[in-house]
Amino acid sequence: VTALQIVTAAPPTPNGDLHLGHLAGPYSGADVYARGARLRGLSARYVTGSDVHQSYVPTKARVLGEEPLAMAQRFADEIAAVFATIGFACDSYVLPQHTPDHARLVQEFIAVLHRGGELEERTEPGLYCEACERYLFEAHVSGDCPRCGADSDGNSCENCAWPNLVVDLRHPRCNGCGATPVGRDFARLYFPLSRYADRLRAYYGQAVLSPQLEALCLDLLERGLPDIPVSHPTDWGIPVPVPGFEDQRIYVWAEMVPGYFASLAQALGGPDGAPGDWRAAWSDPGSQVVQFFGFDNGYFHVALFPALIMAYDPDLPLPHAMITNEFYLLDGTKFSTSRGHAVWAGDLLRHAEPDTVRFVLAHDRPEHRRTTFTWSRFTALADGELAGRWQDWLGALFARIADRHGGSVPGRDPVTASQRLFRDRLGRLAEDCLAAYGAQQFSPQTAARILCEIVRQGAEFAAGQERMRTLRPDSPEAAAAIALEAAAARALALLASPLMPQFAQRLWSALGCTGPLVWDGPVPVPPGTRTAPAPVFFAPCALQDGR
Ligand SMILES: [Zn+2]
Ligand SMILES: [Zn+2]
Repeated sequence: VTALQIVTAAPPTPNGDLHLGHLAGPYSGADVYARGARLRGLSARYVTGSDVHQSYVPTKARVLGEEPLAMAQRFADEIAAVFATIGFACDSYVLPQHTPDHARLVQEFIAVLHRGGELEERTEPGLYCEACERYLFEAHVSGDCPRCGADSDGNSCENCAWPNLVVDLRHPRCNGCGATPVGRDFARLYFPLSRYADRLRAYYGQAVLSPQLEALCLDLLERGLPDIPVSHPTDWGIPVPVPGFEDQRIYVWAEMVPGYFASLAQALGGPDGAPGDWRAAWSDPGSQVVQFFGFDNGYFHVALFPALIMAYDPDLPLPHAMITNEFYLLDGTKFSTSRGHAVWAGDLLRHAEPDTVRFVLAHDRPEHRRTTFTWSRFTALADGELAGRWQDWLGALFARIADRHGGSVPGRDPVTASQRLFRDRLGRLAEDCLAAYGAQQFSPQTAARILCEIVRQGAEFAAGQERMRTLRPDSPEAAAAIALEAAAARALALLASPLMPQFAQRLWSALGCTGPLVWDGPVPVPPGTRTAPAPVFFAPCALQDGR
């Protein structure tokens, strides 16, 4: 297989446990997209990794008094365990410290840029803390963002997603000691991003972008793109393979592009661990790269990365789509690890089914605005919707098949006008749901609501056919009513598979269906198929404050 949906999620930084706010963003988005692509009959690979070279790793280790690499490994393992439990099925999760191919590809990437004249050696002002004797960038420095005024760390602002040059932060302070840093000249390798404005403008005209990114792209082009240092005088990261800069480290955000290549190589690799041919898959005319990341990483993905790819190899296709999300809040305010204001993914997954958590995260996903998690909201969706409406309809349907048809699905096409209407409505809902799994209209929120609507329509249809079943129990009309409900349940199993893979498989099996869950239309369950007697798909979790 070379034509692939290549789905990337910005790799998580291994400097803490995952809370629900983390899960609601790129990691779940990429997983739902990859599963949705497979539902649509496409091949997909979901690649991510561990962003170990972020400066936030050593700064956190300093706070915890741990050795940075050991701490990073511990958190990377915990993140991987949460991914496995909730079912974020990445095809590769690169740990740079254990994947030699990663550093090799990253250094080759920088070396190619330098050889091609795409990097410039420049001496320009930076910030330095005399007390800490440290060059300040990224996690090591904070100040007011020159673009939006919000409190920002070095090099990029979490609030407006704009890059900064550190020296343009207002009221800068060293995050190690709180002192005001001094200006000092540093020789670094620069990537002249400003030269790519015209090519990026052309690219934005054809890429699929979330609406927030459309605005960011226009704003970046209008105000002018800065040139970006891609080497830093620090000891954390991959050494720069350019003479004179060997004691500097490659900027972690320049590492991420070849990092995606390395992740893809690993995802395509053989069982012996040998990397696969990422370039062939990435370049295949039938492939599409779809990238997921939080809006706070916006500028890197929409501006720096495409320009780096153009500079590295102008023949490499650029990402087809870039899909972002906003922050997920807890009781209306930002999740905060330091203030203990968080619902930990591991805790919740000990008390609630993974598919239930996945459904809530999709239903209330912060797609175009911030959304908020509350326990009452969780209970309403988990117990009211899934263990309520969904279980009620499905439970009654399976009971009807068992009681009236001996456990075999009856074989009847729609007979009455109301039955034909329901079949057509189901087809339209399915089309809308499939579109919500595609890149152009990607919206797990929309998909979750359509699944609820299928359940509601199924229950309403069943209620409407009750008189037919009572008055004429042995009629073709009564049999067709149940056959149609079974077809709706079959469609629900297929269409729910990207959001709730375990539930989907259980419903699929309970309906007597076999084979992979690939969309083939709102077709009936084959007549005579034996169904399970009284399956329970969802039970109330009755959680109070997570217990
Ligand atoms: Zn800002
Ligand atoms: Zn300091």
